[in-house]
Amino acid sequence: MVRLLLTGLIVSSLVGCRPQSGGDRASEASSSPVEVETVAPIVNVYSARHYDTDDEVYAAFEAATGIEVNVIDGNSAALLERLAREGEKSPADLFVTVDAGRLFQAEEAGIFEPTRSEVLEQRVPASLRHPEGLWFGVTKRARVIVVAKDRVAPGAVTRYEDLAQPKWKGKVLIRSSSNVYNQSLLGSIIAAGGEEAAEAWCRGVVDNMARTPQGGDRDQIRAVAAGEGDVAVVNSYYLAKMLAADSDEADREAAAAVQIVFPNQDDRGTHVNISGAGVVRGAPHRDNAIRLLEFLTEPESQALFAGGNKEYPVTASTETVTELAAWGDFEEDKVNAAVFGSEGQKALRIFDRCGWR
Ligand code: FE
Repeated sequence: MVRLLLTGLIVSSLVGCRPQSGGDRASEASSSPVEVETVAPIVNVYSARHYDTDDEVYAAFEAATGIEVNVIDGNSAALLERLAREGEKSPADLFVTVDAGRLFQAEEAGIFEPTRSEVLEQRVPASLRHPEGLWFGVTKRARVIVVAKDRVAPGAVTRYEDLAQPKWKGKVLIRSSSNVYNQSLLGSIIAAGGEEAAEAWCRGVVDNMARTPQGGDRDQIRAVAAGEGDVAVVNSYYLAKMLAADSDEADREAAAAVQIVFPNQDDRGTHVNISGAGVVRGAPHRDNAIRLLEFLTEPESQALFAGGNKEYPVTASTETVTELAAWGDFEEDKVNAAVFGSEGQKALRIFDRCGWR
């Protein structure tokens, strides 16, 4: 497997370009058998995920299929810029990123080609894939609430909506609104109750903040443990990683001081988001990209792809890692993940209006 960093590397000579004609590869392939023979046994993946376990999955795919996987690493925005720059000459076959909000940005940039696959449609729940097959969820994470075990009674917080109640004044910890996880969360709240209710919630949470938003999700957990606030909102895998045996001691202690709450279990369910992947429009190795995408949803791949980042698999048949299994099952909000991005602009305006930094 070849993995390349995005910065300054010219890879088109290495990984091959699409034909100069710029036409649709699929139709060329069907009308010209000669073209089919020239499609190299490779697949070029532009990925904003960078976990060692992802590489293990790609290596397993190579071993199983003989198709070489070239990974171009970078953050989501940089990869999108690169795709725009490369245009029709881009060697990209599959685009992988984290959070449905970022998948939406890619969708808006027009990089995806709709894909039909019975395998994917069967394995990936409808709420975790784009309605027209532009992208498919490959891992799942829950945006959960954590509370201080020693200061918050069990059952005192059960819903996202509770965070806006006056009784939590000065107690709520949550990161900046510039973060896509919060934009997607607010997108789901807009989808559930409309813009007005979402804005009222936003104002309530801002009023209750223990401090001006700062740091990442782990920092919110650390701040609860340190007594800066009593409740925080975080992605499940951060808590799971801090709890893990190989985590550093201070983080393990901080994580042990909080109790996880899966919000909204008696109504719409907990907000879940995804890592996802979609076939790139005009991909030179489209069939290989679909094969890889399908491979990612096989049970062994799911165990690695999700487990490596302590996320949930999207397929029902795969077991979760120890830390997640200990939390038990939960009801998830089944609204289609495409909504988080499509409501994202409204979410940004609401954040702005209610002064969530
Ligand atoms: Fe993250």
